[in-house]
This record gives sequence, structure tokens and C-alpha cells, in this order.
Amino acid sequence: MQIESGVSLKPYNTFGLPAVAQSLVRIKNDADVRRVVDHPELGLAPKFILGGGSNIILTRDMPALVLKVEVMGLRLVEERADAWIVEAGAGESWHALVEWTLAQGLPGLENMALIPGTVGAAPVQNIGAYGLELKDRFESLDAVDTVTGRSVTLGPEICDFGYRDSVFKHSLAGRTLITRVRLRLPRPWQPVLGYLDIERKMREAGVSNPSPRQVFDWVCEIRRAKLPDPAVIGNAGSFFKNPVVTPSSAATSSAATRRSCTTRCPTAR
Ligand SMILES: Cc1cc2nc3c(=O)[nH]c(=O)nc-3n(C[C@H](O)[C@H](O)[C@H](O)COP(=O)(O)OP(=O)(O)OC[C@H]3O[C@@H](n4cnc5c(N)ncnc54)[C@H](O)[C@@H]3O)c2cc1C
Repeated sequence: MQIESGVSLKPYNTFGLPAVAQSLVRIKNDADVRRVVDHPELGLAPKFILGGGSNIILTRDMPALVLKVEVMGLRLVEERADAWIVEAGAGESWHALVEWTLAQGLPGLENMALIPGTVGAAPVQNIGAYGLELKDRFESLDAVDTVTGRSVTLGPEICDFGYRDSVFKHSLAGRTLITRVRLRLPRPWQPVLGYLDIERKMREAGVSNPSPRQVFDWVCEIRRAKLPDPAVIGNAGSFFKNPVVTPSSAATSSAATRRSCTTRCPTAR
């Protein structure tokens, strides 16, 4: 295990903020986490788990030990009659995973194309866009407890996914380092088309039965037109969530309120 000192985090956060990590360890597998836990000093140090740095704002230098997740690997683990199960290392880029699945003929993630960040962070806030959330494709994940060094496999019932929410933001926050995520891609593929922007693209293209690649291309076009590219303008995406209202309060609200409930904020996730 290599312990790096005084590491600039500027290239590791999409805002490009100039913070420095006092110490940083690159996590390539579960055993690396256990080595940190068993280390006489690092084991007791406060820790911060870093993926692609696209959902954080570094307001100062990082006093905690940074565990930079670099677990790699993409594979098809199982072909069931009703689904393909794919597994990705937590350090893989989420978008690269979406592209890889499409290239392998394993569609189902295309609505979540171009979401920045790593695979390992995707369950933390149950990423989602254009009518699909991680939980809709989630099978299970592997993780290591950063206090005990114990490896665990967690299914959806433990992850407790909600709208941009999960157990990893609550009782397991900062404690569980996700090393691998498995996704369930249903067969036969059914496009997810109920989103206004995608419907517009279908009308413009005169297509009623799009292919997975068409949906992927549309989502990429829509996102590129709406959102600044962090490689050009530093940013951490939207700070806002869409309002959640109950059906009864939506039904009794004014016409104006109803409009705001059915029309998504252009940049909210
Ligand atoms: C331009 C832009 C557009 C975006 N659009 C969307 C969108 O459409 N939908 C959406 O849902 N989000 C969106 N986001 C937010 C961001 O892409 C997601 O939150 C993403 O999952 C963050 O991944 P990351 O690897 O960069 O995580 P980081 O920013 O590195 O970390 C985020 C949090 O997850 C924790 N974490 C990271 N990796 C792990 C791990 N392996 N195990 C345990 N905890 C971990 C960190 O400690 C931190 O608390 C957008 C961001 C940007 C910059």
C-alpha cells in the first residue's frame, strides 16, 4: 500500500477547486481497504471516500485520509432468461460503463448516459436521469466496512434507495466503501420513453420505435445542450432536487402549482 502525502485534489474534483489531501491511498481492491483498516495510524484516522469528485465541493484542504476508489473491471456475470447481470468496478466511469454495455449488446442504461462520476458513487445518491434511476437496474453491490475491514454484499433491501437517496447517505454514510456494483438489465429490452425531452426527440426524428443507441444519442444530445461540461466549466451539477408532492396535494393545488409539479426543473436531477 502506497501512502501519498500532500496530494493536490484539483484534478480529482469537477469544480477544479484547489484543495490538498494530507494523505491519500488509492484503493484498487477490497484488500487495500483492509490494509488501511489494519494500519496502526491510518486505521484510526478519519476517512473520506473519493470517486470522481463530481458531487462534492472542497471548501478547504482535506484533513481526513482520502481513499480514492480505483477498483476497475467490467464483465457480464450472468445471462438469465429475463435479464443480463453485469458487474463493474467502483472506480470505473459511469458513462464508460453505459457505453460498454451498449457495445456488448446489453442495453438498459442508456437513459443514464453522460452522468459524471464513478460506478461506486452511483448507489450513494441513487443516480438518475430521463426517467430511470439506478435502483431500477440495481442487483447488488460489494463493499468493505472502513472500520472493521469486513466485506459485505448488499441487496436493494439494505440499500434503501429513494429519490437521490440511500442508506449510504444515512446510517452507512462514509463508513462503507463500495468496491463493485452489479446491475440487472431486463430482457427483452424495453425503451424508457416517458420523458418530455425524449418524446420531443422522437417526434423530431419521426421515430416511434427507437433503438437503444438512438435513446443513448438523444440523451447525450439533450444533456450536452443543457448542462455545462465540467472539463470546460468547473461545476458539480445541479444543487436542486425536483419537488416531491403527494397525488392528493397535486390534485388540490392550483393550475400553476400543478404545472410546476409536472414540469421538471431543466437542471434538477
Ligand atoms: C455536470 C453534472 C451533471 C450531473 N448530472 C447528474 C444527473 O443527471 N443525475 C444524478 O443523479 N447526478 C448527477 N450529477 C451528480 C454526480 O454525477 C453523481 O452524484 C455521481 O454519482 C457522483 O459520482 P462521483 O464518483 O463523482 O462521486 P464523488 O463526488 O467523488 O462522491 C460523492 C459522494 O459519494 C461518496 N462515494 C464516492 N465513491 C464511493 C464509493 N465507492 N463508496 C462509497 N461512497 C462513495 C463520496 O464520499 C461522496 O459522499 C451530475 C454532476 C455533474 C457535475
